[in-house]
Amino acid sequence: MKHNFNAGPSILPKEVFEEASRAIVDFNNTGLSILEIGHRTPLFEAVMDEAVSLVKELMKLSPDKEVLFLHGGASTQFFQVPMNFLSQEKKAAYLDCGVWGTKAIKEAKLFGQVHVVGSSSDKNYTYIPHGYDVPNDAAYFHYTTNNTIEGTQMHSIPQCNVPLIADMSSDILSRDLDFNQFDFIYAGAQKNIGAAGVNLVVVDKDFLLKANQHLPSMMDYRVHVANGSMLNTPPVFAIYVCLLTLRWLKKLGGIPAIEKLNKQKASLLYTTLEKSSLFHLPVHQEDRSLMNAVFTMTDASLEKDFLLLCKREGMIGIEGHRNVGGFRVSMYNAMPMSSVEALTELINEFINKYSS
Ligand SMILES: *Cc1c(COP(=O)(O)O)cnc(C)c1O
Repeated sequence: MKHNFNAGPSILPKEVFEEASRAIVDFNNTGLSILEIGHRTPLFEAVMDEAVSLVKELMKLSPDKEVLFLHGGASTQFFQVPMNFLSQEKKAAYLDCGVWGTKAIKEAKLFGQVHVVGSSSDKNYTYIPHGYDVPNDAAYFHYTTNNTIEGTQMHSIPQCNVPLIADMSSDILSRDLDFNQFDFIYAGAQKNIGAAGVNLVVVDKDFLLKANQHLPSMMDYRVHVANGSMLNTPPVFAIYVCLLTLRWLKKLGGIPAIEKLNKQKASLLYTTLEKSSLFHLPVHQEDRSLMNAVFTMTDASLEKDFLLLCKREGMIGIEGHRNVGGFRVSMYNAMPMSSVEALTELINEFINKYSS
C-alpha cells in the first residue's frame, strides 16, 4: 500500500487511472486507442466539449468566460500572459509570495514594467503579505493562490481595480471561490486536474479585447478561443485524463464537497503536528495551505528517522522542496482521508517514541 503525498505530478483518483488505462487499449468501445484517434473527430470533440462544459459547471463560470486547454505547463503561462497583456509602455502589478510567483515576475519583465506590490521574501515566504496597494493604472494584478513549495495559501480574493490574474496550479478546483472575479486563471493540470502537459485557462471575453496585436498564433489566446483549443493537435491524452478527473469531482459533489474533505484532511494533519514540540510549522497559521503542509523537525537530526519510518509505511514524496528543507505533505483533491490518517498515526507513533 502506497500513500502518495507527491507535490506534482501527484495523486489522481484510482478510478481515473483505471479508466484512462482502459481507454489506451480501447476508447469507448471503438476498438481504437485514445492515442490513435484524430483530434478533429467527433470522438475527441466530444471529450473536449464535455471537459470544457464540466469546468464551466464546476467553477460556476458566467457566460463571459472562455475555457481553454493549452499546451505546456504553468511555466508557459508565466510568459504567455505578459506577452498578451503587457508591453514596454505598460506596467503590471505582481505579488511575490514564493518561488512560482518569482518565476512569473522574471518572465513578465521581458515584456514590460513590473511593479512588485508586496513580498514575503523577508521571512522566507512563510506568510502572505497584507496592506499592499495595487496601482489603478496597472495592466493587471497577478498572484499565486497557493504557494506549492512554501505551503502558504491566500484564503480570500484580493480586491483591486485592475484585471485580476491568478496562477491556481496547485489549488484549482479544491475550494469554493467566486471564480468570476478573475479576468484570467491558469493552472498546470498535474496537481489537481489531470496529467502533466496541459494547462487549464479561464479567460474573460472583455479582457481578451485588451490583448496585444501581432502575436505568434500559438501564443495568442484569441486564436485559441477561435479554434476551440484545437489550433494544432492538443495534448489529447492529457485532456482526456482531465475529463475523467472532472467527472469524478462532479460525482463526488463538486467543489463544495471536495473543499469540505480538503479542510478535514488539512485540519487533522496540522492539529497532529501541533501536538508536539518535535515539529515546527514555519507558516503563519492563518496563511497555511490546505493543499501543501510544510514542517520541519525542531531537532533536525531526527529528520532521517522520520523519513525512514515514512518509507517503511509506504509514504511517498514527503521530503521538503530543496529550497525549504524539512517535509512537505501534499494533500490534493484525490488524496483520501485514509492516507492522511495513516500519516498522522505514524506521526503519533513518532511523538511517542521521541518525546519522553
Ligand atoms: C507546479 C507549479 C507551477 C509550474 O508548473 P509547470 O507545469 O511545471 O510549469 C507553477 N505554479 C504553481 C503554483 C505550481 O504549483
